[in-house]
Amino acid sequence: MTSHDSDRIDTLLQHIGQAPLDPVTGTGPVALPSYRTSTVRFASMDVLDQAQAAKQRGERVPTYGRVGLQTHEAMETLLCRLEGGERAFLAPSGMAAISMALMALLGQGDHALVVDSVYGPVRYFHKTILSRMGVAMDFVRGDLAGLQAALRPETRVLYLESPGSLLMEMLDMPALSRWAHEHGLTVVADNTWGSGAIYRPLELGADVSVIAATKYIGGHSDLMLGAAVARDPALVGKLHETHYALGNTVSADDAWLALRGARTLGVRLRACAENALEVCRWLDAQPQVSRIFFPAWPGDAGHALWQRDATGSNGLLSVAVDFDTARVRRLIDSLRLFGIGYSWGGYESLVTQVEPSALASHGYWASIADARMKAGTVLRLHIGLEDPADLIADLAQAFEAARGCDDPY
Ligand SMILES: *Cc1c(COP(=O)(O)O)cnc(C)c1O
Repeated sequence: MTSHDSDRIDTLLQHIGQAPLDPVTGTGPVALPSYRTSTVRFASMDVLDQAQAAKQRGERVPTYGRVGLQTHEAMETLLCRLEGGERAFLAPSGMAAISMALMALLGQGDHALVVDSVYGPVRYFHKTILSRMGVAMDFVRGDLAGLQAALRPETRVLYLESPGSLLMEMLDMPALSRWAHEHGLTVVADNTWGSGAIYRPLELGADVSVIAATKYIGGHSDLMLGAAVARDPALVGKLHETHYALGNTVSADDAWLALRGARTLGVRLRACAENALEVCRWLDAQPQVSRIFFPAWPGDAGHALWQRDATGSNGLLSVAVDFDTARVRRLIDSLRLFGIGYSWGGYESLVTQVEPSALASHGYWASIADARMKAGTVLRLHIGLEDPADLIADLAQAFEAARGCDDPY
């Protein structure tokens, strides 16, 4: 098979970026090698001139190793097909992709509206860097009323994440994007949750999709990688300039690992999602569980939007439990199969406590949290590929330990 014209994600994930066949022997490996280089060699000055001219036209022609050769290109192509973009720009982490996209679109005197449920370090990027560059940001609820109230004449960007990765708040991306475009804003969406496979912001109205490939695309908790993907030529041009000027570069080995991880993105997402639903069913039956945050769960406030806009789910969920801090610490420490850790999207299960300060800054939390939820704790679980019966048994013994601790610490 030489072409891959299917748009079905599971098919294209297997066929993008295969190694070419050797024209002499007619043979080749399946997997593209990791092309490591700092320097690109040219056959002649004419070839070099042609490459430079193509680069000036904005084509992806490497004249130096910083942008990467075939391995990087294959990863970029795969991200474009997943996200429905024209160009993808790789960055050394998801956070680097976010800061690259914001720097590409914002300058002195500009203002950005940021939905308050986005990945927390976006606030830090504003506080430490963007504010020094004279960029203002407001963090607001992700609904039309909240956005409209904070709109300024100098607002240029709407930045959002759907679902938000702490409380899984689904946003009405098409409606918010329409509103943003009516006001001349560029919409940037963090699509780490969907990773192009189960949620596609560019098709739902966003202009730039940023992804931490560190999570589900890498999928094995062994690499850091980010990307910004866009379709519109003017936006592609801005990202291209900023990517180049910042000197963002990614190791060919990391691009290779991400490509390898992506081959199984579809099956991993489905397996994690199925396991997570089983865990939700168990959690729902626990008297100490007051709320489950998981868009694929029928009780989630965003379930209808998820049904309309997403084509699948994953293993990330949060749960509000009626345990005080001491009991929740006992619960977490009692878990044996869940690692205590911040990330998600790997093959393994993880648990963290959602910081109360993070909840306090989410308008969504303020709108739904009743007294019972406020008195308890929110845990975030990443449900991995373990047998769900074992995960449930692990949770059951940890809940039991938490219930039984009277004077724990
Ligand atoms: C992890 C994460 C990021 C940042 O990715 P890194 O590769 O860790 O820098 C950005 N957005 C979301 C939603 C994330 O979960």
